[in-house]
Amino acid sequence: MHRRLIVPGALAASLLLAIPASAASYAPGAPGIGDPYYPAYGNGGYDVSHYDLRLTYQPTTDELEGTATLLATTTQDLSRFDLDFLLDVSEVRVNGAKASFARSGEHELEITPAKPLAKGTSATVVVRYSGVPSTKSAYGFSTWHRTPDGAVAADEPESAWWWYPSNDHPLDKATYDVSVAVPDGTQAISNGTLQSTSSRLGWTRWNWRSNKPQATYLTTLAVGKFDITTGTSDGGVPVVNAYSKDLGDNDGAARASVERTGELVDWLSGYFGPYPFSSVGGYVPNTTTGYALETQTRVYYSPRQFANGSNTSVVVHELAHQWFGDDVSLKGWKDIWINEGFARYAQWLWSEHEGEGTAQELADYVYASHPADDAFWTVAPGDPGPDDQFDIAVYDRGALAVQALRDKIGDDAFFAVLKGWPKEHAYGNASVDDFRKYAERVSGTSLASFFGTWLFQPSKPAAPAARNAGLAPAQAAKGAVARPKSWKKIAATDSVHSR
Ligand SMILES: [Zn+2]
Repeated sequence: MHRRLIVPGALAASLLLAIPASAASYAPGAPGIGDPYYPAYGNGGYDVSHYDLRLTYQPTTDELEGTATLLATTTQDLSRFDLDFLLDVSEVRVNGAKASFARSGEHELEITPAKPLAKGTSATVVVRYSGVPSTKSAYGFSTWHRTPDGAVAADEPESAWWWYPSNDHPLDKATYDVSVAVPDGTQAISNGTLQSTSSRLGWTRWNWRSNKPQATYLTTLAVGKFDITTGTSDGGVPVVNAYSKDLGDNDGAARASVERTGELVDWLSGYFGPYPFSSVGGYVPNTTTGYALETQTRVYYSPRQFANGSNTSVVVHELAHQWFGDDVSLKGWKDIWINEGFARYAQWLWSEHEGEGTAQELADYVYASHPADDAFWTVAPGDPGPDDQFDIAVYDRGALAVQALRDKIGDDAFFAVLKGWPKEHAYGNASVDDFRKYAERVSGTSLASFFGTWLFQPSKPAAPAARNAGLAPAQAAKGAVARPKSWKKIAATDSVHSR
């Protein structure tokens, strides 16, 4: 769709002289990337390839200031484009020239470059900004978490607005250099590898690099007093973990879980193929939240995940996302099953490995423990809707569908799919439909009606379908299927994404 440039009469004549004859095709980029679950998230008209964030953060006052430099390529003739951002902007430059900017909607920063941008050309966008993130909200909420000694940005599907301007949707992945200066004695944790630190005049600068495409919501920042541990997994993956020095009684259990990251990432590589990133690890800040999040290469864990002792199941869940969600990201938020169905299924495989219940037993238990009139079955994991995006059914019915697929196509094809999928869409995006087509190609089996039953129908799959999928419907009365030993532990990770 082409919209005409509308300019006041006096300006029009001079602009018409300055702009090529095709100027009528120059139009503002859309304020959303086109995701029906979140129409205003992300933006249209350009694609970012790299973010360079040079920030300074003062933990005592929550003041953040800095400069973001975005390298982008236009995908249409642009008279104007949006970034998603909440902090106070003092200057924007596009290709070196000062650009004008304005606010609109809940989190849009509208940027009008001095000269319109032709389709297919590169644009360097520099945004200077400052602000107190904890004073900003959108839609009435904030995902910026203050801690006694700093702050954390880690949430899904939105966390970037509070600390850097972006095209905030997983469809636009980019590499990152995140450089943060904090007072000496305080640490700044982010994704990827720690390239260097340097100290000057009481401030230490932490330079982190993510050299593989990364979604905006998977980009994290934590500032506080951390104890950092490093190592290398048997498989050769560098490990960087960080623990708040203020974890209290959860400190031991947090370390007893997250220090096993190297072992668990190697174990998952056996199922999903080589680990796709330059480093791995997790961090446990002193937040009061309850969830964990698969922030790329550096998983976010709430201390509460370790309140009952060590919890390797949640570590397995978040590390599985490094392949299913981070390496291969969803195309739209409706595709959440290709993240959560498989991360939950990885917990089932770990349960089996630990001798605490096989994946089949866990699937049988999910099927049997929810009667047909349970609202659980009204949620379709293949397209749950924005309100149910992180419903328990996306996880448990989602993993049940994965087990049903395994029973339908057999172990050889199933495990070939698990290992081949991350390679097929490495560092890219894919949908539930892409997954179905891939599984059909690998297994040589038509799966349209199978996916309809297990992922899209808003009711419990009937006993014959369950029998065909290798489940145990004969015992399908609640309580007739024994509860696997790992059930409670896995269910304890259900708060994984709840806000
Ligand atoms: Zn998850």
